[in-house]
Amino acid sequence: MPHISRRLLLPLCLLFSVIGALLIASVWSFANNADRHLGADYLGFASEVVRGQQDGLHLQQAIESLADSPDPLHQQQALERLWIIATRRGSVNQYLERSALAKTDYQHILDEYRVLNRLLLEVEPILAVAPYQPESLARLKTMADELDDSLAFIYSELQHLVFGAAANQQQLMQRLSRWLIVLAALVMVVIAALMAALYQIARQKRQVEALSVTDELTGLNNRRALLDQASRLFAQSTRSGAPISLALIDIDHFKQVNDAHGHPTGDRILVAFAALLKDVVRRADLVARIGGEEFCVLMPQTDANGAAELSERLRRAVIDHTFRGGPGQAEALAITISIGVTTSRTDIAPPDDSFAALYPRADQALYLAKQNGRDRVEVG
Ligand code: GH3
Ligand code: MG
Ligand code: MG
Repeated sequence: MPHISRRLLLPLCLLFSVIGALLIASVWSFANNADRHLGADYLGFASEVVRGQQDGLHLQQAIESLADSPDPLHQQQALERLWIIATRRGSVNQYLERSALAKTDYQHILDEYRVLNRLLLEVEPILAVAPYQPESLARLKTMADELDDSLAFIYSELQHLVFGAAANQQQLMQRLSRWLIVLAALVMVVIAALMAALYQIARQKRQVEALSVTDELTGLNNRRALLDQASRLFAQSTRSGAPISLALIDIDHFKQVNDAHGHPTGDRILVAFAALLKDVVRRADLVARIGGEEFCVLMPQTDANGAAELSERLRRAVIDHTFRGGPGQAEALAITISIGVTTSRTDIAPPDDSFAALYPRADQALYLAKQNGRDRVEVG
């Protein structure tokens, strides 16, 4: 995964801001459009329009029947037709108001409705007396034709408008669903980018943490890690009452090794020695490089005998190991170590149950080992 540099941070922030702004704008526009356009019931409106297209014909038929037999029953049927036409106008008005159509688009229909209204007002009193005044039937038929013309105009215009609006609504829904897919993809991209950034940050944090407690050359714990972990091991040993031992190890005459074979060879020997040290100690022991060619092993639950034994085993392992200067150098280098080892004591006051208490004793023992000729273990 690529490293997120500071140079990339600004463009990334900008990208996230643009995507965020797009999201907000889209949700706002979606909420607006969806509410206005998708909320309109064009299906119900269209079926009302289709029914309205039949109104003129039905009125004409009712008036024909009244002309054929002018009785109150046919009069009643014709009056009902008038009532249906008037009621449908109210229903159409509601559909128009709830639609996404602009008033200017249907103003001419409202104007024609006014004409229709006037005709309805005129026809109603004539119809009321029609069964008793046969001469008014001819006038009624003419007016029914006029009403039919008006209704035909209104409902064909409405049909045109409603079908157009329904088609727009469908297009809008398609556009919105495409938009939603794009938005969902953008959200996924943002989430993926954020997860990648978080993963990267966590990885860098882990790397920094690991580096801060690791010796770069040998990969062993450094002094800081040793002190951190030592306090935990000492606390455990105080609780359990078990002894804990500390060995300080120093490679003998290492300066001469560097002088004779070069610093890179010295480095290789330090790395090889670190590996050997890890091999010899137990899993529970804490190993660290605390200086140039100085190492230490903290051995929990280990008494003086055990610690001396392990130190001696380590000293022998170094003698037995073949240290080579480099891949091309056949000559083996004679390496020895000196060790100062000590164990915690509970019979003194205060008990030396800390690294700070054991360290000077182990250091003193190491000094003694050097004084006594090196390549040896001294117990302090
Ligand atoms: P003694 O037996 O008394 O310990 O002698 P010595 O030469 O080992 O001790 P001294 O303290 O005089 O020298 C330590 C040497 O270790 C000097 C220094 O160049 C070398 N050294 C320290 N750190 C490193 C390192 O990281 N790499 C290499 N190659 N050498 C190192
Ligand atoms: Mg030294
Ligand atoms: Mg040394």
